[in-house]
Amino acid sequence: MLDLSYAVSDALPQWPGDVKSYEARTDCEIERDGFFARSFWMLEHYGTHLDAPAHFVAGGATAEQIPPERLVGPAVVLDVQDAATSNSDYELPAGRVTAWETQHGRVPRGAIVLLRTGWAARWPDATRYRNQDAAGTMHFPGFGPDAVRILIEREVSGIGCDTMSVDPGRSHEYPVHRLALGAGLYQLENLADLSALPESGAFLVVAPLKLEGGSGAPCRVFALLP
Ligand SMILES: [Zn+2]
Repeated sequence: MLDLSYAVSDALPQWPGDVKSYEARTDCEIERDGFFARSFWMLEHYGTHLDAPAHFVAGGATAEQIPPERLVGPAVVLDVQDAATSNSDYELPAGRVTAWETQHGRVPRGAIVLLRTGWAARWPDATRYRNQDAAGTMHFPGFGPDAVRILIEREVSGIGCDTMSVDPGRSHEYPVHRLALGAGLYQLENLADLSALPESGAFLVVAPLKLEGGSGAPCRVFALLP
């Protein structure tokens, strides 16, 4: 089994503009209180997390409404590390999905499709991970809208990536968010190192916190290797 999630602390790369993303406090200590307990506060979209449809769609499903059968499924891994290394603005084209299908067969219904860009190697260096230019625009690879249209047609359950956003960093319109969440898919962002995953054959277990009304939720993601 692989754990594809990052441990949560206040030291993880934040979305530009977020001033505070996480805080944990010790409320009880064993020596003083007889037991140890903390309280914490965090953004829904920080660290490894799930975007629920409601994140971009008014009336869309919130975190606790995603049915469990959609949170488990075969992992489809689209490896674009070479292309992403030479082009930080790489956008997954539709042809990369059909090329995967030529090799491994049709993307199965209920699959969870992960984009492996190699960006996890930059974590937790926020400067390298966000890769912002002088104007503040981020540069990291992501899904392209045409590729996502095919995945929606295939009735996948979700998409995910090892970067901050399923849209490429330079995107200001978030077309992939609008398309995927608009079609009822969920998204996984800031996934940890995906290098040990085969392109096909692994099985994913996605375990977001069951936040009532959540636009998303911190999430644990496990892969069962074939
Ligand atoms: Zn998010």
